[in-house]
Amino acid sequence: MAVDARKFPRAIERVCETFKISSLYPEQETSLKALLEGKNVYASLPTGYGKSLIFFAAPVVFDEILERPRGSSKILVISPLRTLMEDQVAYLKSLGLSAIALHDEQSEERLKQVEKGAFTYLFASPEKMLSVERWRKLLFSKHYREFLVAITVDEAHCISQWGLPGSRSKQAAVPFRVWYGNLGELKSLTASDLPSIVLTATASPSTKKDIFRTLHLDQSSCHVIEHSPERPNVQFSVKYLDKSMPVSTTFNTLIEELRVSNGSCQRTMIFCQTRKQCALLYSVFKDNLGNDFYLNKTPNPKERMMEMFHSGTPESVKKHILDNISRCNGHIRVIACTIAFGMGVNCKGVHRVVHFGPAKNLECYVQECGRAGRDGQPSTCLLLHNGLLAAHCADDIKDYLSNDKKCRRTFLYSYFPGEFSSNVSGHQCCDICAKSCSCGQESCSEPCALSLESDADDTCTVSSESVRSVKEMDKIKLRSELFKFMKDLLVRNTSGAIASVNIMHEFTSFHIQQVLDNCDKIKTLSDVEDFVEVWRKEHSRGILAAIHRIFGDVDEDELKTPECEDEEMDEHAQEWANIRDDSELFNLLNDSDLQHVDVHMEEIDVSGNEQRNMSSMIGNLFKSF
Ligand SMILES: [Zn+2]
Ligand SMILES: [Zn+2]
Repeated sequence: MAVDARKFPRAIERVCETFKISSLYPEQETSLKALLEGKNVYASLPTGYGKSLIFFAAPVVFDEILERPRGSSKILVISPLRTLMEDQVAYLKSLGLSAIALHDEQSEERLKQVEKGAFTYLFASPEKMLSVERWRKLLFSKHYREFLVAITVDEAHCISQWGLPGSRSKQAAVPFRVWYGNLGELKSLTASDLPSIVLTATASPSTKKDIFRTLHLDQSSCHVIEHSPERPNVQFSVKYLDKSMPVSTTFNTLIEELRVSNGSCQRTMIFCQTRKQCALLYSVFKDNLGNDFYLNKTPNPKERMMEMFHSGTPESVKKHILDNISRCNGHIRVIACTIAFGMGVNCKGVHRVVHFGPAKNLECYVQECGRAGRDGQPSTCLLLHNGLLAAHCADDIKDYLSNDKKCRRTFLYSYFPGEFSSNVSGHQCCDICAKSCSCGQESCSEPCALSLESDADDTCTVSSESVRSVKEMDKIKLRSELFKFMKDLLVRNTSGAIASVNIMHEFTSFHIQQVLDNCDKIKTLSDVEDFVEVWRKEHSRGILAAIHRIFGDVDEDELKTPECEDEEMDEHAQEWANIRDDSELFNLLNDSDLQHVDVHMEEIDVSGNEQRNMSSMIGNLFKSF
């Protein structure tokens, strides 16, 4: 479309009026212009830059240029999480615009209105849009053919992180959300010249390539904007976490801060890898703080200063938390969340992000750190790690952890496109730059705003006599024994496809790695439970038996199956049914696990049972999105 030189400034004025802003950033303006010219837009802009305004403004601009009544032009927004969609819907509604998120709780009446084209902004997950015939058809309808001005793919890195098969190491052979990988189909459901707006905060070059390929974007005809995800107000630290150090010691400073601040301590998000870790942190804080856990020291479940947020959090509690943390001064000051759920949380006023165990890879880490300091205030990101917590992570983040010379900021951001020429230095930059900082300020000696207790005398170390010597060859043999055990578990559980999915997550190569990392120390069942995140006694015994077959030094009594099975730990296994939708668990899978499963799946098929493939099963778990 040739853009009338006089009309465009007027359209921009209308955008400013509608969204109550004084002007647009040049990147926002050039993107809107490119859209009007029928170009696709790819924008990789740091968190807080106002990426969303590009697609918020698009229908307003098109209405103005095409001289349509306000609210006629429509935009479809593909978004990964319901909480994200609902946040944006609420914001648009607050400005008097019409918006809706497609999900299972919408009434039929509202859905019919969607079909009639009653909403300017339509939000949907890839699953909803592509796997439900009704919504595929919607895009073909006459109304949408005429009034849909663009399709937005928000958080487009999800395509690479979730939607593609294991072309990259450490990624599951079966995608976690397979419809993300199929988003290119949208092109065939809409007019061929309908532009796309593709948005992300952080995309490495390989992620960008995945996005372009999946969405059939052509680099040459696409309007590309890429800024470094750097945030100059954020400082980075890494700390090794001794597994023998009690969690209460690790978080002592934060616990004490919460105790004395009565609802005014720095807001802190703690990212955990599993729901179990969230629950652990929560109970440590609660037990240590007693009544100080509550605002005004009065036990009232609605006034807890720390909360946890994950797939198992009851809906009413989720609502309470989301409401509280959407206000900067809400009394919830510390929130422990699983990585998957942290993504969907709009937490305001966060000045500290702590990772209890590293993110899956550097790209995810930078995204998760994007929670800190959105208001421009000085903020800290601290990553706590040890061998166990890092076992399933990508090599790039392992390199980040082992690095002790290169500035962390440089290490992180040189991984992404876009210039970063930050003038941050010394202790305000990172723990490594702090080592050579001599500014003399009080904060200099304490490079991390959340200083952790690490009294070396306090940590109990395993005495050398209880450690067995392990040769590389022993480890290789042990690894093969453990895989045999994993396969046995799968073969024994032929009662149904879902049962094998459970086994896959309860005992994975993540657990095998944990055993291998600690096989010098594991001699009893309780050692297994100390060093490995086991779900079942049966698994502890299987692991110990495998160790005995290689080293032959385990006490025979430990290996006996008790006459009366102690099912205490199997209670945790029950928990499993509830946490299947914890995405990070899926991320623990890797190719080798799935190879075993594939073999097993074939056996099921041959025996004439219902044939189901893994991707559709995993897809079903996400129907509720
Ligand atoms: Zn630095
Ligand atoms: Zn300094």
